[in-house]
Amino acid sequence: MNVVVIGVDIGASTIKLGAFTTLGQLQYKWSIKTNVANNGESIASDIATSIKSQMRTSDKLLSIGVGVPGFVPAKSGVVHGAVNVGWKEYNLKARIERLLDVSVFVNNDANLAALGEYWQGAGQQSETLLLVTLGTGVGGGIIHRGEIINGPNGTGGEIGHVTIKPGGRLCACNRRGCLEEYIGTKGFANTLRDKLSEKRNVTTELEWDDSVESIVKAAKSGDHVALEIIEECTYYLALALANAVTLINPNKVLIGGGISAARDSLFQPLRKHFSRFALLETDPKTLIVPAKLGNEAGIYGAAKLALDRHSAEINHLRGE
Ligand SMILES: [Zn+2]
Repeated sequence: MNVVVIGVDIGASTIKLGAFTTLGQLQYKWSIKTNVANNGESIASDIATSIKSQMRTSDKLLSIGVGVPGFVPAKSGVVHGAVNVGWKEYNLKARIERLLDVSVFVNNDANLAALGEYWQGAGQQSETLLLVTLGTGVGGGIIHRGEIINGPNGTGGEIGHVTIKPGGRLCACNRRGCLEEYIGTKGFANTLRDKLSEKRNVTTELEWDDSVESIVKAAKSGDHVALEIIEECTYYLALALANAVTLINPNKVLIGGGISAARDSLFQPLRKHFSRFALLETDPKTLIVPAKLGNEAGIYGAAKLALDRHSAEINHLRGE
């Protein structure tokens, strides 16, 4: 008998799944499409069906951890505001538990990416860890002594919605000046749009588009507009990071997500701006580093959550 936990990471277009041993070894992984039709009504059953069909006959399923792109208040466990997959308020835990008859534990996807990096990625041995994921938007997670700082409303670690420019760009959360309007794929595109409207007198055509890869490539070849965009976007990220670091004093700040692949073109200006804002005498080169697990961080963290919470449940039943 091979006892496994399954880590699930729900994204707006893909759901990633991985089966792990109780010692934390990833045994096999797969992915399915996210069906957002009818307000994401079929997602829970799609996950259950896919787990049933992928599990090997020798496997015994212990528990499941799931990362969602929304807030998950600790007490209720009900997902709030996962609008990208169609859920305003949704009891995913209860639904999957009913379908598979095992314990299911749900948390925010960036929180779980942070937990994954703490467990087996670039955040190992960090007593306090901050992870920022730069994707379309900006996600964040804080781990302290192996525990997610979730908060009563589930918004702990949400650095993407930290205000870095009062009265600035309107965010999907209905407030203005949030970090994720200034960095990430969306933030880069916003900044490019604003730059171009400032420079209407520029006659030459841009030789690149607003994708992150394209901007980074143009910056590397010395394109002025692209360099200005990266300069400005990393300035705002550095401001948010320095404030977060002053507040929680983490051992490491990990940068994950698609954009982080830009490496030095991003990390160099980021660390430079960070030094201006940071209170502490920290070397930004050792403090701010790339995450390691790539787009698998979420399933690692979800599996870790499933393992930790399951043993906590068992201990509780034993009265320990
Ligand atoms: Zn916001």
